[in-house]
Amino acid sequence: MTSVNELRETFLSYFERQGHTRKPSAPLVPDNDPTLLFVNAGMVPFKNIFTGAETPFAPRAATSQKCVRAGGKHNDLDNVGYTARHHTFFEMLGNFSFGDYFKDDAIAFAWELVTKEFGLSKDRLLVTVYSEDKEAAQIWKKVAGLSDDRIIPISTSDNFWSMGDTGPCGPCSEIFFDHGDKIPGGPPGSPDEDGDRFIEIWNLVFMQYEQEANGTRKDLPKPSIDTGMGLERMAAVLQGVHNNYEIDLFQALIDAEEEVYRAKATGDQLASFRVIADHLRTSAFLIADGVTPSNEGRGYVLRRIMRRAMRHGHILGAREPMMHKLVGALTSEMGEAYPELGRAQPAIEAALEQEEARFQRTLGRGLALLDEATDGLGEGAELSGETAFRLYDTYGFPIDLTADILRGRGMSVDQAGFDTAMAEQKKAAREAWSGSGDTASQAVWFRVRDKIGATSFLGYAGTSDEGVL
Ligand code: ATP
Ligand code: MG
Ligand code: MG
Ligand code: MG
Repeated sequence: MTSVNELRETFLSYFERQGHTRKPSAPLVPDNDPTLLFVNAGMVPFKNIFTGAETPFAPRAATSQKCVRAGGKHNDLDNVGYTARHHTFFEMLGNFSFGDYFKDDAIAFAWELVTKEFGLSKDRLLVTVYSEDKEAAQIWKKVAGLSDDRIIPISTSDNFWSMGDTGPCGPCSEIFFDHGDKIPGGPPGSPDEDGDRFIEIWNLVFMQYEQEANGTRKDLPKPSIDTGMGLERMAAVLQGVHNNYEIDLFQALIDAEEEVYRAKATGDQLASFRVIADHLRTSAFLIADGVTPSNEGRGYVLRRIMRRAMRHGHILGAREPMMHKLVGALTSEMGEAYPELGRAQPAIEAALEQEEARFQRTLGRGLALLDEATDGLGEGAELSGETAFRLYDTYGFPIDLTADILRGRGMSVDQAGFDTAMAEQKKAAREAWSGSGDTASQAVWFRVRDKIGATSFLGYAGTSDEGVL
């Protein structure tokens, strides 16, 4: 069996042999893009090279990049626990050509790696190309000998990548693995493509155009290559399992959870085990890269992820902090590839323990309130925005946590009502302050309040550690 750690190494050493420079993963917090919440693809650290703003350090590179997709344009948070293939944190394996080789070689490398090094059978593989990219379809036919029905033209933006409104862009070609007809889902481009039978394992981006602000596109003099393979998805394929959460790495985390929570990862509880394993990785890696839970920006994304996991811990019976006890297992699995995990382990444990202790003070009562509010309501019901706001403001339930709990019951939340309640509270607070006539401290107060948002808890005395000041 190919372990996750072996697979990462096989990928990187294969591309090293093809003349690529191996580079370590960049941190999750992007240093070259304030508009981006977290690094969400292998090419992000190389953006300035692809735009031409920076000189490449080498013509070819290969990485295993830490990625988080839990907010912004790519948000897979709501997929976790529902699909077999999505994580909020995952590793993207990538090979890059900075104006060096192009489409022919990119396709040939990918095909050789997948079929020779990994030994996958051609009968289990399908590829998509952008419908206008006849060249890519031709190359696939020549290099892989795939029949026409296994080279699927797609005309949507799924197969056309662009960095932004302007800048490098181009068609993509994706490789899919067929997990077999026991699993529901159709091939890419078909009406039921959202199923999990055909899983996208690798995306090859052919950057061959430059998008101009005036809407025209010109050919890049030196086209480039950016690819991304999901490490966990490829590991599932190589380990003969369908669900990413069944690979060795997740199995080890789930084993640790079974011990810590003294519960079994079966039946209804399985989803909770998987969500906790996913969110543990995301939380740990974000903290290792310097993010701390707070009520705004990146820190609030982290807090939301931690609290979602902690709610699942509560389902498994946790009534005191537990999640921090899993960090050791994570470090054993991933600490060699990512030494920052070991270095930050005490900080990760402390942050998790503190956050869980804090949230547990209100979690149980918030859940009781939610049960009461939905008691007697059937599927399709909507929770009032007011109750959702109370859960947020008094019990520290991020709105997406409330929505996630309701989704499990076939219910939803009145988001607009929640937004109104939030706006009203802000307005009331402003008016209360303007009545005090103390304008200097008022300005400071608003800055602080806008920064920290609502306090997570206003219920009883002893709230001194509730703020994030
Ligand atoms: P999907 O369509 O399955 O959501 P994607 O097209 O959004 O995937 P890309 O942006 O092309 O994914 O990323 C490159 C590769 O990274 C994918 O082919 C896949 O193997 C992997 N990947 C993407 N998102 C995730 C995720 N949330 N969890 C695990 N692996 C992922
Ligand atoms: Mg996606
Ligand atoms: Mg896709
Ligand atoms: Mg893709």
